[in-house]
Amino acid sequence: MLRIGFISLGCPKNLVDSEKIMGLLLKEGYKIVHPEDADVVIINTCAFLDLARKENHAVIERWEGKGKKIIIAGCLVTYYGEEINRVFPFISGSIGIADLSKISQVLRKPSFFFSKNGNNYLTERVLTTFPRAYLKISEGCSNRCSYCLIPELRGEYRSYPPELLLAEARVLAESGVKEIVLVGQDTAIYGKEWEEWSLARLIREISKISGIEWIRVMYLHPRHITQELIECVAENEKVVKYLDIPIQHCNDEILARMNRGITKRELFHLFPDLRSKIRNLTLRTTVMVGFPGEGEKEFKELKSFLEEMEFERVGVFAYSQEPGTPASFFKDQVDEKVKEVRREEIYSLQKEIMEKKNREIQGKVLKVLIEEKEKDYWIGRSERDAPEIDEVVKVKGDVKIGEIVKVKIKKVGEYFLEGEAL
Ligand code: SF4
Repeated sequence: MLRIGFISLGCPKNLVDSEKIMGLLLKEGYKIVHPEDADVVIINTCAFLDLARKENHAVIERWEGKGKKIIIAGCLVTYYGEEINRVFPFISGSIGIADLSKISQVLRKPSFFFSKNGNNYLTERVLTTFPRAYLKISEGCSNRCSYCLIPELRGEYRSYPPELLLAEARVLAESGVKEIVLVGQDTAIYGKEWEEWSLARLIREISKISGIEWIRVMYLHPRHITQELIECVAENEKVVKYLDIPIQHCNDEILARMNRGITKRELFHLFPDLRSKIRNLTLRTTVMVGFPGEGEKEFKELKSFLEEMEFERVGVFAYSQEPGTPASFFKDQVDEKVKEVRREEIYSLQKEIMEKKNREIQGKVLKVLIEEKEKDYWIGRSERDAPEIDEVVKVKGDVKIGEIVKVKIKKVGEYFLEGEAL
């Protein structure tokens, strides 16, 4: 039987796809090994931004001429479509976002699939992130923000059937997973295909599964947040008081040109409303600087909005002119150097806000999920920290991986807290 090596690039949604392809291959009797020891290397790719495409090209080309079969999956496949094997003439096959189940066919006979629409839900899975797990609840996006390639890469929005997701969550719970992180391109519209389902109902059902202690929701589009969801987050003990709500900007003209479908006034109202209804809420957002037409005035507006809202966590990106997106044709593109200066400004503003908020945490007791052991410390995350993008907590004490323990915070460092297990 062929030995398969796997390289997973890109976002958590891609990681789930990689875990599921590995699960399917294991079920079919293939052996998953380190890529260096493999007969076939499968590379699951990202194509969201020009920078990511360049990085992914470099990873793929590194495997050329190494005597291994190379198969490409993911967004770079749907980005190039039928051109994929002209771009990479040395590969032995490809599967698109909606072709995950065709992987064994491609292993048996070199073939190229590159579809993006259609059902791509797989049941089997090899979890690589214990004691947490991402639960991908939908595929694709139809919001069509004017700067974004995702709808072209991953197809139209479709929710995954709730009964399949609940079965998956039960299997994860049985394997000892403590935290379920809900991901999708826009999780807020989950279940829109069915009258009786919504994100809030899915969360409530997941919270009934014993063993799951934390449920975290990422990627909520601000215009799709409902009162039902707010109440669910506020009242359900298993839902961590953490919400990831990308706003991208706050200036009305820019929001309209981004096709975000929301106004500054609505954003101004949303976050204080969430804080008033959900105790100890940690808010994460994402902003984009240098969108076409963003002058000094609009940029200052964004800065003062962030100063006023004081998000605990902010990801800041410079606008990237992605070919084929409506915004790529907009006049008044912003100079790259100006974008970089603005990105730095937001970055340092947010650093100050985070340090101030961290100082307020010193001496407090936080619940921390222990995830790994380093030399003298255990490493974990509190409810305030999403995996891979936020801070960690360094913990001293008699604890073990997979436990959620109370930790008294003794010290605040740059991007980490330090404390002792009680
Ligand atoms: S909601 Fe997100 S994934 Fe969907 S089009 Fe907008 S930026 Fe892209």
